[in-house]
Amino acid sequence: MRCGVVRLSIPVSLLAACVGACASPAPPAESSIGLVGRVTREGHYDRPHATRTLPIAIRFAQRGSCVRCELIEMPRTGKVTTVLVRDAQGREWTKTGDASEFRPSPPEDARFLAVASAALSDGEHDAVLAFRHPRLGDVSDSATWSGAEDERELRIVWQRPTDSAEFVVHRPKEPGAGTDVSFEVPPTERTEATAADTGATAAVFRTIADGVHEITLPAADTRSLAIEFADHVVLCEASLDNEAGTRLLAAIDEHLPGKPVRYVAFGHYHPHYTGGLRPVMARGATVVSPPLGAAFAREIASRPFLSPPDELAASGRAPAIETFVGERTFRDGTNELVLVDIGEDSHHTVEYVVFWLPRQRILFQGDLGWYGVGAGIRAGGERARGMLAAIDARKLPVETLVQGWPATGRSSLPLVELRALLAK
Ligand SMILES: [Zn+2]
Repeated sequence: MRCGVVRLSIPVSLLAACVGACASPAPPAESSIGLVGRVTREGHYDRPHATRTLPIAIRFAQRGSCVRCELIEMPRTGKVTTVLVRDAQGREWTKTGDASEFRPSPPEDARFLAVASAALSDGEHDAVLAFRHPRLGDVSDSATWSGAEDERELRIVWQRPTDSAEFVVHRPKEPGAGTDVSFEVPPTERTEATAADTGATAAVFRTIADGVHEITLPAADTRSLAIEFADHVVLCEASLDNEAGTRLLAAIDEHLPGKPVRYVAFGHYHPHYTGGLRPVMARGATVVSPPLGAAFAREIASRPFLSPPDELAASGRAPAIETFVGERTFRDGTNELVLVDIGEDSHHTVEYVVFWLPRQRILFQGDLGWYGVGAGIRAGGERARGMLAAIDARKLPVETLVQGWPATGRSSLPLVELRALLAK
């Protein structure tokens, strides 16, 4: 049965009422459906708007007011990669990967469950959920049906904090998506929210060398550097979203008073490095980037943060963006910083800026160097190799590498140690 578009609004826990209002007669006590198709993801590839498409299966079941949705990212293995549940109390729970416990769903998972359950409960419905995304602005997640009666397709648009995904799925021609799922969340298998879940962790400001200050945002899982000059700061890496960008500025205001952020640069376009640009642009800082990144910064400035307006929209300011090719140097009597685009040597993105501090012999880079913690640390493979090749080709006398992501584990490593790890 079909009945128009279900327009959903937060709080998600009220969704059962929205669906009930649309569906007539009342939703059945039990239903289940299996869907197969593909998912196209965006956000972490070699250039802005590059995507990758992979097969996916979705299983959905409803029993009374409870729903359960399973994502199977490698359908051939049949392994369930994500389980989303709404329990009888209207609370949403998530279990991902090999985790044994359900945790309270983050807002993005609750949104997915909202549009999926509105689209799949008691027949076919279209569902739209408008919301304020902390990085993308005023956007919508949605689930919409299309196609002839025997070839119906469901398209789900899902915008998560760190990437976007579009699912296009349909009922399998032959049964096999295994719709028989149970969805209770046994109390012994769930853990309540922690401070980290709610993002309630403060910025950590630490001076790591003369004129070089590290700002770590644990909730965003990012590390930025504030490079201090005589009368201003250059911010390197802008973190994940508007809130993170605002936290970076607050930390700089507190610890480096009287030194405005005059320039901001990011290593590559991925969300953890560019998502917080808008509040920095709102302060009048100039974004400095190679050409593709400069175009992406312009796009970020035009994102729809209108209801209510964020700082940049309210300022009415046109973004200040400066483009460079190769290298860009900042220098005064107190400090020096060189932005170096190592490009495809990064084996990660087509433009990739590293931050060279010749006076401190520190090179700061986003996510090329190493992974892991303690003795389990390992070099980042071809990315790390490519970065070292770029350093060697330019004869940069680097002593210490500092890394932006992940924010946990070692934040810095002597260059010789990375070379040794790569030689193993
Ligand atoms: Zn990246």
